[in-house]
Amino acid sequence: RAKAKGPGTSEVFQPSMHTHVVKRLQVANELQKAIEREEFIVYYQPIISLESDRIDGFEALVRWQHQEKGLIAPTDFIPIAEETEAILKIDKWVLRHACTQLGLWQQQFPNIQPLTMSVNLSSKHLTKPDFIEVLDKILAETGLREKSLKLEITESFVMEQSPTVLDILDEIKQRKIELCLDDFGTGYSSLSYLDCFSFNILKIDRSFIKRLVGENDKCEMIKAIVNLAVTLNMKVVAEGVETNVQRDKLKALKCSYGQGYGLFPPLDSQTISRLLEKQNTIIDQ
Ligand code: C2E
Ligand code: MG
Ligand code: MG
Ligand code: MG
Repeated sequence: RAKAKGPGTSEVFQPSMHTHVVKRLQVANELQKAIEREEFIVYYQPIISLESDRIDGFEALVRWQHQEKGLIAPTDFIPIAEETEAILKIDKWVLRHACTQLGLWQQQFPNIQPLTMSVNLSSKHLTKPDFIEVLDKILAETGLREKSLKLEITESFVMEQSPTVLDILDEIKQRKIELCLDDFGTGYSSLSYLDCFSFNILKIDRSFIKRLVGENDKCEMIKAIVNLAVTLNMKVVAEGVETNVQRDKLKALKCSYGQGYGLFPPLDSQTISRLLEKQNTIIDQ
């Protein structure tokens, strides 16, 4: 790295940097093995319709089941996986698992309104046309209902407007899969971005929701984002809903969907099955 800056320049290499690099390399190495051994588990966080208080769908969130360290959060390994090709394999694994699980729930609970699944996708896939082949295979294997699957892409990167990227996004849309712009308001996106890539759903980053605390809080940004979404014909989800005050406020601001620890935390599939069973019996009565 230091060399790449050209002759005559040098960087001081701190011991702390060394530890950091070694640690990242270690994790990258261990990830390779974890992928081979499929040491991952998917948690599902319900996404709630704020109008009806019912579960509309789920976001699939991966965790690494480390043999010694226990459950590792995605923030501790996804960024490292994104530096290598590892993320491509992890995302496909999660996609297959989440789609299979949703297919099971749709069969098991046919009375519940059509449930959806949102899966996070690294933008790296958008330059790899083979992603569509994989997607088709997974869709065929799992036989999901149309419009059940959503793909979330974060705006924390500069998305190229290359023909490949646009082609892949187009192929995704042709399959009636909705595109969500994740963590909206924090990354590189500009308004032209929303125009070019025609996302179906905006997820308002939780840093905005945090500001909803009570009487005199700052909700202008949320109001503006909700209005923008409505004008552009997009659905809008609030992330990080932790309190009842926030939930009620968001509902009053006409934000349609919410997700957060104050509604439901991310849960394992068995716990979600029990939740859906309860909803199912309520409908049956
Ligand atoms: P994200 O896609 O924005 O997912 C939402 C994150 O916010 C999740 O963290 C979730 O547990 C957390 N969260 C939910 N409700 C609340 C709340 O009320 N308060 C707070 N403070 N946090 C809340 P998690 O599971 O640790 O995932 C972190 C990030 O890792 C995700 O952010 C996503 O960008 C990435 N990620 C997770 N799974 C995958 C995956 O399968 N593939 C890829 N490429 N990225 C993933
Ligand atoms: Mg997400
Ligand atoms: Mg998010
Ligand atoms: Mg996030």
